[in-house]
Amino acid sequence: MLLGAHMSIAGGIFNAVLHGKKATCDTIQIFTKSTNQWKARPLTDEEIKRFLEEQKTTGVTVACAHNSYLINFASPNDELYEKSFESMKDELERCDTLKIGNIVMHPGSHVGSGEEIGLRRIAGAINRLFETLPNGRTTICLESTAGQGSNLGYRFEHLAQIIDMVEDKSRMGVCLDSCHIFAAGYPLIEEKDYKTTVKEFNRIIGLKRLKVFHLNDSKKPFGSRKDRHEHIGKGEMGLEPFRHIVNDRRLNKVPMILETPKGKDLKEDVENLKILRSLISGKKEKQEITA
Ligand SMILES: [Zn+2]
Ligand SMILES: [Zn+2]
Repeated sequence: MLLGAHMSIAGGIFNAVLHGKKATCDTIQIFTKSTNQWKARPLTDEEIKRFLEEQKTTGVTVACAHNSYLINFASPNDELYEKSFESMKDELERCDTLKIGNIVMHPGSHVGSGEEIGLRRIAGAINRLFETLPNGRTTICLESTAGQGSNLGYRFEHLAQIIDMVEDKSRMGVCLDSCHIFAAGYPLIEEKDYKTTVKEFNRIIGLKRLKVFHLNDSKKPFGSRKDRHEHIGKGEMGLEPFRHIVNDRRLNKVPMILETPKGKDLKEDVENLKILRSLISGKKEKQEITA
């Protein structure tokens, strides 16, 4: 099982890998550029080389990048849509250069234009991206959302609809976020409910598309459609959903990434990872057998 956390690239992109090692991560997620800027300076050969080298020496892999929050492919505003397109194109190129296989992307907000129109605009932008970058190797992973405001992606059907409209489906994946799906109203606490939710996901999207799992507890209640991450086991979800997830054998090749609050010394990540690892075991099954 690959467990890790989102890591900052402050002071150089290779630093994320070193921070990941320090926080006991097997794998990490990064931004490939500052998230509040449309444009970033190109990466230097030196930076790319060091980034790849540090992964070899530390053994910490990079599961995925996460796209900038400014990007909105569902925007009804043409200027914003074009800016989003250019920015996402740049992010995909950066991922290819850095040999990052997956980029997690928030589907977008329709800002009042309506869900159907928004979903079509997202798929249109992705089709154009793949046409513009025919040799790109990075998979776009649509992230499930809590459904705050006019954010799309709070139903598995939204993600399935987008993928359905994308021509090159081989470059499409999905990222589930435990906090988001819980807030969106998919139950995860009782084992039977967790199983139903995964079954539902498998039926509508397919487990083979699941490339990344974000593990976050939720500060906000079930079905609240509010997106506020909390430390593992300390929020409205508690430990049970995470026990189900880390012991689900169907997911044992899916990288699991924390996006929980933290300070500079990363001790919160260390603690959350310790808790997640303590949940993995055959203990429960053994108990059932002896009972
Ligand atoms: Zn996200
Ligand atoms: Zn997330």
